[in-house]
Amino acid sequence: MTSKEYRHLFFDLDHTLWDFERNSRETLRDLFTELKLESFGIASFGLFMERYEYHNKYCWMQYRNGKMDKEEVRVNRFIYALADFQIERKDLVYTLSDLYVQRSPDKLNLIEGAAEVLETLSPAYRLHIITNGFEEVQYRKLKNTGLLGYFDKIITSERAGALKPSPAIFEFALKRASAGRSESVYIGDNLEADMLGARNAGLDQVYFNPEARPHEEKLTFEIRSLSELLPIFT
Ligand SMILES: [Mg+2]
Repeated sequence: MTSKEYRHLFFDLDHTLWDFERNSRETLRDLFTELKLESFGIASFGLFMERYEYHNKYCWMQYRNGKMDKEEVRVNRFIYALADFQIERKDLVYTLSDLYVQRSPDKLNLIEGAAEVLETLSPAYRLHIITNGFEEVQYRKLKNTGLLGYFDKIITSERAGALKPSPAIFEFALKRASAGRSESVYIGDNLEADMLGARNAGLDQVYFNPEARPHEEKLTFEIRSLSELLPIFT
């Protein structure tokens, strides 16, 4: 495998470098304790989390189908989760949804190997981020976890005015980084937004697929752990 011609490595942030699952869970565990959800009749954090994850997934699906906006997702997932425990408390819903959004970006868990791999690759490549997210939130995650310094350009969908998988955000990123398509790779965990998006925009791709989800797409590289980036790029 030749990788000598690559000069720019573009990374996804959530679920690829920043451990979204774990950070989300930790935040909800803190809130479960702090807001004393047990006293409302939810027997354990595990039970709460199970219902939250179920409804969160459903609400994001509704979002993708244009049936909920972002604000509705943020609130509805808690309305539905609490309703499963016969709790109808608007005040509690808004407190949960506000504190969750405020606090989760301050959690520090990274995907295993993230810092080490960036440290190793940064002298030889220009590293950048392309992320669907808000400027303020995504910068906060990078700064808090100490990753910000590794990156040259941070491209958010908010700034680019387009969301992955739209080619527009990849074009915007290439331009900002003064990077050519053929010398650029995109590394991400989402098959559609990241891999098909990058491929359609003419970039090579590395699919970070830790759970080995089956698929039929032809992609440039596929890895199960971030440390597998090293044999590809060094
Ligand atoms: Mg991701």
